[in-house]
Amino acid sequence: MSGSANSTTFVLRGARPYGGGPVDLVLRDGVLAEATAAGTAGAAGATVVDADGLVALPGLVDLHTHLREPGREDAETVETGTRAAALGGFTAVHAMANTDPVADTAGVVEQVWRLGREAGHCDVAPVGAVTVGLGGERLAELGAMADSAARVRVFSDDGKCVSDAVLMRRALEYVKAFDGVIAQHAQEPRLTDGAQMNEGALSGVLGLRGWPSVAEEAVIARDVLLAAHVGSRLHICHVSTRGSVEILRLAKERGIAVTAEVTPHHLLLDESLAATYDPVFKVNPPLRGKDDVQALRQAVADGVIDAIATDHAPHAAEDKEGEWANALPGMLGLETALAIAQEALVETGLLDWAGVADRLSTRPARIGRLTGHGRPLQAGEPANVVLVDPAARRTIDPAGLASRSRNTPYAGRTLPGRVVATFLRGRPTVLDGALA
Ligand SMILES: [Zn+2]
Repeated sequence: MSGSANSTTFVLRGARPYGGGPVDLVLRDGVLAEATAAGTAGAAGATVVDADGLVALPGLVDLHTHLREPGREDAETVETGTRAAALGGFTAVHAMANTDPVADTAGVVEQVWRLGREAGHCDVAPVGAVTVGLGGERLAELGAMADSAARVRVFSDDGKCVSDAVLMRRALEYVKAFDGVIAQHAQEPRLTDGAQMNEGALSGVLGLRGWPSVAEEAVIARDVLLAAHVGSRLHICHVSTRGSVEILRLAKERGIAVTAEVTPHHLLLDESLAATYDPVFKVNPPLRGKDDVQALRQAVADGVIDAIATDHAPHAAEDKEGEWANALPGMLGLETALAIAQEALVETGLLDWAGVADRLSTRPARIGRLTGHGRPLQAGEPANVVLVDPAARRTIDPAGLASRSRNTPYAGRTLPGRVVATFLRGRPTVLDGALA
């Protein structure tokens, strides 16, 4: 197909796959065509990218992105959110279902999927709602969403917990037919009524209603038992406590098909930030104690937590500023996720770059059944590649982010690493750190 965008050949000269020795990666016709000794790949007719010193990873895959379209295009659109994703090194994102209207029908998931294709910055895999309107009462059209053009495999009422055990059991049973997975936002609603931050000594001091760890842990414990009983796949969203890690470890030791994700912010930030009363640090589940942060990092390192997922949650200024108690929970995450992984895991010696590739690409792609993503950087594989400069440092300026919203908890903070280039099926979506 001469003349197509994929027909351009790129030679990534001297790239370091997974942080290893330098090679030339040749991207041709949408495929990683060759990986040869550095400086040896022929460059006739190709575009050469100087990748000297840059770490090459498979394109990142996010299991948990809020794109806000349809319904809150003032906070984010598929276009702006996927731009942010590409700049963050992602080649695929799962778009959460709590839009307006809710993504609980084939029509809505196909709309989101189509908008993603039109934008072209990364693949968008819509997540389908588990229950109609996230109402927690009736199962949504799970099969119709699975059969739609969007081929939905991940279902979640995220933002809300599927708290009814009978409904949760039925959902787990239903998705077995098409190898789907239920992604649970584990939050027992009655235990967290009006919750504003982590429950503990500090919430008492600050006078903010507490969100106890047990409200998360009790739901995870119930659901791993339900998943084992049904023999279905369960995924736990944004795990935030040491106790949750212990339950997941036990479940995995028993061979239960449960996977889990943690957000970058739960790997770096802790509840002490609530003392600022700055709503930018308000998030659900809340930032936890330092001991939880340590347990989460260790769980990513030893693989009990499978994936790092952003929970990118853009909010318009009027929803995020003012009083802590009135602000919506949530933080931006797509453009800083890799930097936080580098700071919290690589620079602490807990994970190497191969581990980062596993937790930010391979395993999330597998959980979401995205067969064209999360593949090894080998000849013949799809040319979904991100180049990272691990030696770079950048200070986060909210005004400089591609997201339509500005609610980053890292404003003014200097973070390690920089995404230099992102390739989606051999076509650059980002070059020289800017949209291609
Ligand atoms: Zn959630």
